[in-house]
Amino acid sequence: MERIEKLINPHILSLQAYSSARSESNLKEGIFLDANENPFGNFNRYPDGNQNELKNILSKQLNISKSNLFLGNGSDEAIDLLIRIFCNQKEDKIGIFSPTYGMYQVSAAINNVDIEEYYLNENFEILEETLKEIISNKNLKILFICSPNNPTGNCIKESKIDFLLENFKGIVVVDEAYIDFSSKDSFVKKVEKFQNLVVLQTLSKSWGMAGLRIGLAVSNPLIISFLNKIKPPYNISLESQKKAIEILKNKKVFEKNINKILNQKEELKKELSGLSFVEKIFPSEANFLLIKCKNSEKIYQELIENKIIIRNRNSQIKDCLRISIGTKQENKILIQKLKEIDEKGIVY
Ligand SMILES: *Cc1c(COP(=O)(O)O)cnc(C)c1O
Repeated sequence: MERIEKLINPHILSLQAYSSARSESNLKEGIFLDANENPFGNFNRYPDGNQNELKNILSKQLNISKSNLFLGNGSDEAIDLLIRIFCNQKEDKIGIFSPTYGMYQVSAAINNVDIEEYYLNENFEILEETLKEIISNKNLKILFICSPNNPTGNCIKESKIDFLLENFKGIVVVDEAYIDFSSKDSFVKKVEKFQNLVVLQTLSKSWGMAGLRIGLAVSNPLIISFLNKIKPPYNISLESQKKAIEILKNKKVFEKNINKILNQKEELKKELSGLSFVEKIFPSEANFLLIKCKNSEKIYQELIENKIIIRNRNSQIKDCLRISIGTKQENKILIQKLKEIDEKGIVY
């Protein structure tokens, strides 16, 4: 782990973490007069800052040890904390593979860290020459690889990520926000093998808990310990932890909903391919479809006027729209409207 320690910002490496009242006593029951809480009310007590019960369930599900698991206020929190742990504002950069999820760049900018932007090829895959460039770039500290990628929907080839894990000297973050919708394997099982790997997952998408704000980082115990050291002490609320524990216990509902979403994705694909203005439907391992259209701006606006909101990605990928998979009823209304747009010929 010496290699990883060398990558950590010196001021973080020597940081004395905040010690909260509850973590010092470590008692679960008793008369609590240690944290200046109000003795009245239903939400008067601070939540478990270590999220022990929630971590018990999640670590069992992922077949990892609790020391391999960090929980953040959404995986967006983990993205920010990783940049703060590893990147020095003056010389370090993060590497991103565009088009991709926007938060890596925003988090870097907030932390005054520069980015190195590599472009994916026409199939949204990492280029061979990009791999070489990355290995020789001395300023790169973290790579953020989103797989399945948002907004393109495809997974990045496992062999390319493996190459980077083996040859890149910095940290490789694999963001698996959509992995439960995918047929591909998670990188979680590779955390034992590669010291420089951090896998991000979230309860926001496949588990349908975006409103609770719970994200996961899976890595070796050293990196996890630093994420825990620098996070706000009570980063996940009491109610969020409680609700998540409740929902996670019902794996049947989770599986049923994923199946529904995947079936609807196939249905939507079929319907979209029948529209004259749809030029391409990109392969998707996620709960959304990216489509290339004639006059995408017009279609986007027309849908908005009918209170159907999809994501306009035209600025990122020319003429492309991203559509999240909704319920059967929602998708039906969307298709109905798109057929109307097609029949009226208003895109031409
Ligand atoms: C939605 C999304 C996230 C955000 O997850 P939160 O846990 O809700 O913060 C992270 N990464 C990608 C690629 C996403 O699309």
